[in-house]
Amino acid sequence: MRYDVIIIGAGPGGIFSAYELTKQAPDLKVAVFEAGHELKRRKCPIDGTKTKSCVGCDSCSIMSGFGGAGAFSDGKYNITNDFGGSLYEYIGKNEAIDLMKYVDDINMEYGGEGTKLYSTAGTRFKTVCLQNRLHLLDASV
Ligand SMILES: Cc1cc2nc3c(=O)[nH]c(=O)nc-3n(C[C@H](O)[C@H](O)[C@H](O)COP(=O)(O)OP(=O)(O)OC[C@H]3O[C@@H](n4cnc5c(N)ncnc54)[C@H](O)[C@@H]3O)c2cc1C
Repeated sequence: MRYDVIIIGAGPGGIFSAYELTKQAPDLKVAVFEAGHELKRRKCPIDGTKTKSCVGCDSCSIMSGFGGAGAFSDGKYNITNDFGGSLYEYIGKNEAIDLMKYVDDINMEYGGEGTKLYSTAGTRFKTVCLQNRLHLLDASV
């Protein structure tokens, strides 16, 4: 089988690259190769009783597999330039935020429906933090 584009790794970067390519150039044949397991086979053997610590699986289900690292996190998506990366250094802060919102819209379309956007900016919690000399970073989440 021949492909026009081969993407290595089905983490968020790989999945979104494939998504954009199929949207913007539907005629391209795109393949995504992933070293880890498919999502339903991603299971860490640590259960707290029989297996208490890492046994060094050939493919770590926490870090590897469809969905990439953090696939089993609580899935917070932080829309901010204040932490989590430096994309804005290349394209500017406004465009970086626009791209994060674009990704958020796609997430909402494919399973994120019903989740609510909240912000740490201007909250009472932020005031309490400041009163206690803690600096809470601003983000829409
Ligand atoms: C425990 C945890 C919780 C997290 N929680 C959050 C969160 O709540 N919100 C948030 O925004 N971010 C979170 N993150 C960060 C987020 O997961 C990463 O920023 C994101 O996964 C990076 O995406 P990526 O596609 O660049 O890389 P990765 O997700 O690392 O994906 C790379 C993929 O490539 C595969 N691969 C590597 N080499 C090869 C190869 N040679 N051949 C084939 N496949 C290969 C790997 O198996 C992996 O699946 C969390 C991370 C962790 C570890």
